Amino acid sequence: MSTERKAELAESLSEIRSRVMQASAPGTTATLVAVSKYKPASDIQACYEEGQRDFGENYVQELVDKAKELPEDIRWHFIGTLQSNKAKTLAAIPNLYCVQTLTSAKAATLLNNNLPETRTSPLNVLLQINTSGEDSKSGLNANEDLTKLARHIISDCPRLHLQGLMTIGALEQSLSGDDNADFVALKKTREFLQTELEKDGLLLSMGMSSDFEAALRAGSNIVRVGTGIFGARAKKV
Ligand SMILES: *Cc1c(COP(=O)(O)O)cnc(C)c1O
Repeated sequence: MSTERKAELAESLSEIRSRVMQASAPGTTATLVAVSKYKPASDIQACYEEGQRDFGENYVQELVDKAKELPEDIRWHFIGTLQSNKAKTLAAIPNLYCVQTLTSAKAATLLNNNLPETRTSPLNVLLQINTSGEDSKSGLNANEDLTKLARHIISDCPRLHLQGLMTIGALEQSLSGDDNADFVALKKTREFLQTELEKDGLLLSMGMSSDFEAALRAGSNIVRVGTGIFGARAKKV
């Protein structure tokens, strides 16, 4: 890796971190997940050397390959669309920390049943909610599906930890600053679910490069920032 690239990454990471701190609720700092899809392992290593530990990836095979060559104390977050037939491969990654995009009981069971025997900590899961209702976005739409999946995890998936909810949201909403309807919708959904389950403390993963500060002001606990740290991505081929 060139010294220029290393310095550039250190600078952008440090800037995003201080913006996350500034916008986080008083007395708290949200988790910054550095979204490294399509970016080389050397970029991730450079951020790791700056103290970053949470990284997000969208593709199972890419994550498997990167996890093999990068430090084992990285906390990997899977943030891509999860196909059930890939759940087993994903679960086998020893330092997989969280699956942020769970939408089905089938995938939940497969994750639960395929975690390595040697793994002692539960796998965190977030349920993805389609707050914008767009067909192009995955995620649960109906509250009853959400409750059903949450109950399935709690009662039938002892090795999973239901940590909260995640949304991607509509592009237009990311331009609307503090009036972001997707953030409002995700918070409402959390209220609903916490009441149903008689449980509190569920976390929210919302906010990306263009809107993470608004998301934090709206109460987000986990932001996922790619472009803001690593620069623009090449289009998928
Ligand atoms: C790619 C991606 C991100 C990061 O997007 P940026 O706009 O580059 O910050 C965040 N969340 C999900 C689910 C993504 O797929």
